[in-house]
Amino acid sequence: MPIERRDLLLAAASLAVASAAGRALAADRPAGYAIVGLGTYGLGVIAPQFANCRHSRLTALVSGDPAKARAAAARYGVPERSIYSYETFDQIAGNPDVDIVYVCLPNSMHAEYTIRAAKAGKHVMCEKPMAVSVAEAEAMIAACKAADRKLMIGYRCHFEPYNLEAMRLARAGAAGKIRYLRSEHGFIQSDPSKWRLKRALSGGGSLMDMGVYSLQAARYMTGEEPIEVAARESTDRSDPRFAEVEDMIEWLLKFPSGAIASCLSMYSANQNHVLLMGDKGRIELEPATRYDGNRMWTGRDGRAQEITPPPGPAPTQFAGQLDHMAQSIRTGAEPIVSGEEGLRDMKIIEAIYLSAREGRAVRL
Ligand code: NDP
Repeated sequence: MPIERRDLLLAAASLAVASAAGRALAADRPAGYAIVGLGTYGLGVIAPQFANCRHSRLTALVSGDPAKARAAAARYGVPERSIYSYETFDQIAGNPDVDIVYVCLPNSMHAEYTIRAAKAGKHVMCEKPMAVSVAEAEAMIAACKAADRKLMIGYRCHFEPYNLEAMRLARAGAAGKIRYLRSEHGFIQSDPSKWRLKRALSGGGSLMDMGVYSLQAARYMTGEEPIEVAARESTDRSDPRFAEVEDMIEWLLKFPSGAIASCLSMYSANQNHVLLMGDKGRIELEPATRYDGNRMWTGRDGRAQEITPPPGPAPTQFAGQLDHMAQSIRTGAEPIVSGEEGLRDMKIIEAIYLSAREGRAVRL
């Protein structure tokens, strides 16, 4: 490309960044999302959810697979000009229909695409785990701050009726003084070729995946920040699935009130369970954090009562999450699950790995 034309394009791109950064989201316009990574979650789960949104719409797609992207664009009414590859991604700066970039990539790519999106003048929704290290998470927060863009983590359970009601009941003292919490998440990872089992892409094993749900539940159910962690890992390294990452990891979190959370994640059994015990009763969810079909009970003196929670903020937890980000941009409020919330988890995750590796408790 001749230098003059390249310079013109660069100038146009930075003008677009400036105007995007200065442009508030009009009240009558839904926020436009670009999904980056058309995989099981981005394409299979998130893309159809815009039909349930009031404040958000799908306006662009980013993929390494042009045929898949074109088919998805046709299905969801995204114009061909709003399809990007990973190489052309930065040109999204000039697309006024995109307000938010939703990063649905393998974990080790979250930081790069969050930072590139912020530099392109876009707000960012990033999937969990936020990143593969504390350093990356901090760089993502700094990039969004520098660009005056919002950063939210895809912690969908904060918009899910059963988890919301469980949080409310726990905070309202339904179980009395919280003493103990158990949070276990796992599924059987059967395909050794999956990126989740490659350290360079996943950053770690079950902890980086299902463990995030166990950790999040321990924090949002108790409403406390842990002060100490003690972890141990059990992985059969001769199993070809676990040559690079851990299978099972268990950790105890100690909270300032004296409450203890016993958390677990694994890739060799199916489990999805949260149990909170207090001095007056218990709150139990099983399954606890699925896309649908969650159930909840409260218990006292050996008697359990099944609870049907009030409806959540949107028809589905995914729509609630997407619209919350759109409304946060509109009102200027910080998303309830911001980059800082993801960073808090990343710090604990690093401490869990350190504790398991060194066989000692780690103060947080
Ligand atoms: P998938 O493997 O199904 O999809 C990932 C997509 O990323 C691929 O389809 C591909 O899209 C793109 N990609 C780019 N580079 C690579 C690469 N080197 N290897 C593999 N894929 C690549 O993963 P998921 O959709 O299950 O997970 C994506 C993210 O979403 C993860 O961070 C995960 O933790 C999170 N997630 C969150 C869930 C939640 O409930 N909040 C549930 C499931 C996942 P393309 O072909 O378009 O380039």
